[in-house]
Amino acid sequence: MLRSHTCGELRIEDQGTEVTLCGWIQRRRDFGSMSFFDLRDRYGITQLAFNEETNAVILDEARSLAREFVVQITGIVRERSNKNPNLSTGDVEIEVTRIHLLNRALTPPFTIEDETDGGEEIRMKYRYLDLRRNPVKNRLVLRHQTNKSVREYLNAKEFIEVETPYLIKSTPEGARDFVVPSRLNEGQYYALPQSPQTFKQLLMVSGYDRYYQIVKCFRDEDFRADRQPEFTQIDCEMSFVERDDIISVFEGMIRKVFLDVRQYDLGEIPVISYDDAMRLYGSDKPDLRFGMTFCYLTDVAKGKDFAIFDQAETIVAINVTDGNAFTRKELDAITDYVKRPQIGAKGMIYCRVNEDGSLKSSVDKFFDREALSQWASVCASQPGDLILVLSGDHSTVLKQMNELRLHVAGLKGLRNPENFKACWVVDFPLLEWDEESKRFHAMHHPFTSPLPEDENMLDSDPGKVRANAYDMAINGMEVGGGSIRIYNKELQAKMFKLLGFTDEEAKEQFGFLMNAFEYGAPPHGGIAFGFDRLCAILSGTDSIRDVIAFPKNNMGRDLMIDAPSVLNKHQLNELGLSN
Ligand code: ASP
Repeated sequence: MLRSHTCGELRIEDQGTEVTLCGWIQRRRDFGSMSFFDLRDRYGITQLAFNEETNAVILDEARSLAREFVVQITGIVRERSNKNPNLSTGDVEIEVTRIHLLNRALTPPFTIEDETDGGEEIRMKYRYLDLRRNPVKNRLVLRHQTNKSVREYLNAKEFIEVETPYLIKSTPEGARDFVVPSRLNEGQYYALPQSPQTFKQLLMVSGYDRYYQIVKCFRDEDFRADRQPEFTQIDCEMSFVERDDIISVFEGMIRKVFLDVRQYDLGEIPVISYDDAMRLYGSDKPDLRFGMTFCYLTDVAKGKDFAIFDQAETIVAINVTDGNAFTRKELDAITDYVKRPQIGAKGMIYCRVNEDGSLKSSVDKFFDREALSQWASVCASQPGDLILVLSGDHSTVLKQMNELRLHVAGLKGLRNPENFKACWVVDFPLLEWDEESKRFHAMHHPFTSPLPEDENMLDSDPGKVRANAYDMAINGMEVGGGSIRIYNKELQAKMFKLLGFTDEEAKEQFGFLMNAFEYGAPPHGGIAFGFDRLCAILSGTDSIRDVIAFPKNNMGRDLMIDAPSVLNKHQLNELGLSN
């Protein structure tokens, strides 16, 4: 070892010892005949002290060191006169007796500090420098701890990790495949997996019983904020289980992760049906850190000559506790928010519930005290509250109210990223009608089984069939999803047919799976968690980029290595791609 200790290790008990440390020069402070340097490594920062009176030569040498130079220093641990309680090593400093310069550094293009002056682009280009900064490093450490906690849990429960191939044939999970040309099979292509879905199911047919893999998946989606073309899943599958078994095993896993990584007890995780989630929150991934569930005024607010309501299919409200404190100006700003094109509400109606119990709405012309008191009663409003109302076409207005609910919660400070609330959402529709292609799509994927009690509707009313599937959401973000699978060839064939595959197409793409189902497939089901998203939530950051060591930008580019890039003629020729 080139060092005796790390830069995060020395304490007051080490006083008087001679030590050797290695690291990067973070910062320097000069005071006349004295200089102090911060020496940094992954573990922390240790102060180096130089004094002209005790060692003028070494002070001179030190003053030639610039930021981010890599050095090895030897010296004696001394008690600091000016202690720094914010630093684990803040009680001590090193009186340096020898400096060995290990490497020089150019001046970094941005400061390597917790608060840096570098913009996003330059930090991505020099990601190896950005990774030196504490906030970035801490998130990668958290990612490692999360990974470790997940493995501990699954290993203890007899799951085994099996690696599945990256060069495969396309699996339809709703996104486009990335493809890789085959040099040896000219004109043919591999696809990179959108998930190991079919392989993990085959492992169940093979009798492996409990599988997991922390695995890269690839989806060639259009550029959307906070999407990465490659991302990591905690991918799991189990045999001889029903939905509640999966829910209980993976609830245990997520609770352990939050305890290990954040010392946070998520408590029992509620299970909500898709219909209830939509009805109460207008979202299939509701944020349960706060209430403000939807109240329906359709029955009480129609027929009072207020044309906007009379023409609306649905009138929905939320009651904002203590919301009467919002000023007129603030309410106007909220109205502007829901009227933005991204949300598209035509307008917002409100009703104040004053401290004396009187009600004051923005549509007093149409609704008298009695009418408004019906609103207040439906919404269970208390003095000091505020009722916000949107109306319109049912599914549109639910989406808009979901946005409004989240926005108001944000304004009221109810979306604290240090608070965590998880839920399971179950009983999703199995199929989703697509107007454009005039056919059904699998809401989850084609291998998801229908709820046993709904299976008889597959022929008569497929749109009504619910899936034996489950999603987990935390703080309003989807973190995982899975299903109990079809394990019978006939049902799988029927499913493909419903999804518009011809027999030939189904056979061509999934013959291997349907064949496997003829050799003793056990009942099985599984789930996959978005590992990046989970780490982002655990770190309290909005962006999965923050928890990925070498992320791509939102154009799918790696700015550091400059990828994707063109291939030279020779490579293209070999792949049969030139012309
Ligand atoms: N393969 C699915 C996905 O990536 C998860 C699952 O059904 O297990 O979403």
